Amino acid sequence: MLGEMDLVDRLRGIVGADHVLVDDDLRAGYETDWTGRWAGTSKAVVRPGSTPEVAAVLRACGEDGVAVIPQGGNTGLVGGSVPRSERPPGSQIVLSTRRFDALGEVDARAMQVTAGAGVTIGAWRAHARSCGLDAGVDFAARDTATIGGAIATNAGGSRVLRFGTMRRQLAGIEAVLPTGDVVGSLAGLPKETAGIHWPSLLCGSEGTLGVVTRARLRLIPHFPETATAMVGAASVDDAVELLAALRSGVADLDAVELITPEALDLVSAHIGADPPVVPPADGVLLLIDCAGHRDPSDDLLAVLGSSPHVVGTAIASDPSRRARLLDFRDRITEAIAATATALGSPTFKLDVAVPVTHLAELMHTAREAAVADGCRIIPFGHLAEGNVHLNHLGVRDPEQLAATVLGRVAELGGTISAEHGIGVAKARWLPLIRSRAELDAQRRLAEALDPLRIMNPGVLAP
Ligand SMILES: Cc1cc2nc3c(=O)[nH]c(=O)nc-3n(C[C@H](O)[C@H](O)[C@H](O)COP(=O)(O)OP(=O)(O)OC[C@H]3O[C@@H](n4cnc5c(N)ncnc54)[C@H](O)[C@@H]3O)c2cc1C
Repeated sequence: MLGEMDLVDRLRGIVGADHVLVDDDLRAGYETDWTGRWAGTSKAVVRPGSTPEVAAVLRACGEDGVAVIPQGGNTGLVGGSVPRSERPPGSQIVLSTRRFDALGEVDARAMQVTAGAGVTIGAWRAHARSCGLDAGVDFAARDTATIGGAIATNAGGSRVLRFGTMRRQLAGIEAVLPTGDVVGSLAGLPKETAGIHWPSLLCGSEGTLGVVTRARLRLIPHFPETATAMVGAASVDDAVELLAALRSGVADLDAVELITPEALDLVSAHIGADPPVVPPADGVLLLIDCAGHRDPSDDLLAVLGSSPHVVGTAIASDPSRRARLLDFRDRITEAIAATATALGSPTFKLDVAVPVTHLAELMHTAREAAVADGCRIIPFGHLAEGNVHLNHLGVRDPEQLAATVLGRVAELGGTISAEHGIGVAKARWLPLIRSRAELDAQRRLAEALDPLRIMNPGVLAP
């Protein structure tokens, strides 16, 4: 075991003194998560600028038995991107990938691009659009969340219905294993059957198996013609019926987002705008987004016009009116965070999914659990995936609340993490949805790739 100064000095030797942050005020922004719920102290924040530097940092940390917390944009919502509060500060570093911000030339023939792990989702999208193409994953944290973080969490967002999660965007990966070995390929071959597929193995592993340094990303066509509708439905079940009609009747359907009255009230006050459609009592709002080469408005209007499940519609196809409608969905998380800050207590978040036919039952359970706890619940989500984000403000007994809701989710055949990941926040509930055999196999796999167990301790580990 080498001394504490030795490791910091060696890290300075690897990445340069300017990129090893040891002062409290310089580290602070890397040590508390976006929700304010998770925070810890590290020995240093290390900012490597190349793949060999990442390899050398991991080797140095392995030699000293110091844990490594990979971090991209630090927008993760499950406590996996910041140091662990229960660990001594000297036993962990944050490895920030933000210097991996290079984007390669767009290959329009392959419809692919190579991006550094620290490139933001927004920069990936803007780069693709500058070449007449687009990115298949999008969500509200786009201007801060990174490609590496999105891969590590298998991020979803609003367009999963059409283009899948981050996993589906991956044509190749470059990553550094905890041993310092570099794995993967950025060739972007659409077909290859040659053993372990590194993108599949690493996507969703939340920084527990290695550090993603670069990725070969698929691009999608840019669809210039768009239409967005805000629609009321009398119940969650009616919304699910409408979803089925939209899926079969609108070829250019991009997103179907669920906004509950609780979320609508909060976001309306936050953005200072009244919604053009108000859902009926006990109803919900849907935000429907379409994009195509031809104007999708007619298809959308035809389905909405013939559906018995629609109660009120506002539709927009020009960019500024669309943006105003999309704000009601995009800014809910921000509105919740502002309310939590005003209350002085972090939000207790659950990110669950069930088969859509059980969504109404899940919402009922979640609301009852919130009433029993005495907290305020703000649900919203991605309807097509049966994915609802349950945000609890002023919760008294989070353990009991989570046990009730997640237990029911598991009974309904759902998952305790649809897109945010398990992190440290949900790790203890993993046995609800994974068998002992699966968890043992996962642990043995992590031990094989990370024999010194330095990668992101506590994450994905019940
Ligand atoms: C306003 C808001 C809206 C959001 N909306 C959505 C949404 O709609 N859909 C969705 O899926 N998520 C959403 N999120 C959650 C979050 O943005 C995503 O989880 C995102 O993928 C995290 O990216 P990041 O770069 O910030 O990662 P971080 O927060 O830095 O890290 C997240 C996890 O990935 C690991 N990690 C990061 N980079 C690497 C790397 N290079 N190699 C290995 N491991 C790494 C970290 O250790 C950590 O476990 C939202 C968050 C906010 C704040």
